[in-house]
This record gives sequence, C-alpha cells and structure tokens, in this order.
Amino acid sequence: MPIDPRAPYDENNIFARILRGEIPCSKVYEDDHALAFHDIRPQAPVHVLVIPKAPYVSWDDFTARAADGEIAAFMRAVGQVTRQLELDGPGYRLLVNMGGHGHQEVPHLHVHVFGGRQFFQMIPD
Ligand code: AMP
Repeated sequence: MPIDPRAPYDENNIFARILRGEIPCSKVYEDDHALAFHDIRPQAPVHVLVIPKAPYVSWDDFTARAADGEIAAFMRAVGQVTRQLELDGPGYRLLVNMGGHGHQEVPHLHVHVFGGRQFFQMIPD
C-alpha cells in the first residue's frame, strides 16, 4: 500500500528502526547525515537505498523542510555511494517514489540506486 505523504513522520517505520539499529541492514555507506544499504528485494544486480538520517517522510517533505546544508550533504552521499559501488563508469539509475502515484511504500525518504545492467524503458509498467 502506498503511504499518505502528508501524514506525520512515523517513528516506527522500517527505516527508522534500521537507523536505530533495531533491525539489521546490509550496510554500504554511512556518514553523519546518510545511511545506504542493500534493498531487501533487489530489482537489479545492484539495488541500494540511500536515506537521510533525519526524519523526513518523503522527497516532498525533505525538499520543503530540510536546510540547504542537509540537502547538499544528502546529494553528496548519494554520489559517494554510486562511486563506491563503481557505478560511475558504467552508469546507473536513481529513483525516488513519492506518495500515492509514485507508489512510495516506506514513509522515510529513500533514493533507490539501480545498477549493474543496461536499463532501457524509462518507466517499466
Ligand atoms: P518504495 O516503494 O520506494 O517505498 O521502496 C521501498 C523499498 O524498501 C522496497 O524496494 C523494499 O524492497 C525496500 N525494503 C523494505 N524493507 C526493507 C528492509 N528491511 N531492508 C532493506 N530494504 C527494504
């Protein structure tokens, strides 16, 4: 079920629990502002999620409320993750699902990083 992007932040969402260390993750990268880990149901040879550590429900929430420095740090973290995964040479795809039409299922902002194969269709379904 997609989330309601206007609902208040749910402190018990799965990514909040990963950030608190209550649920394990397969960590790829971490800094003061961001955590990256492998998606539990990968949809490409490389499928990593990058999340801010601060509680933002969605891309909309993040871009409306986060300070410029937080946004810059998060963008840098996504770039760092892609280079660490050695995707900068072959290329990759980034995806953010937002709210109902975007079919966002976890109410904590996450950027999907897909790589490791050639992608063709922009929107597969
Ligand atoms: P979205 O539809 O954009 O909200 O994507 C949520 C993503 O989170 C999906 O690709 C799920 O496979 C992934 N996911 C859900 N629970 C976990 C988890 N515990 N660890 C890693 N990835 C997860």
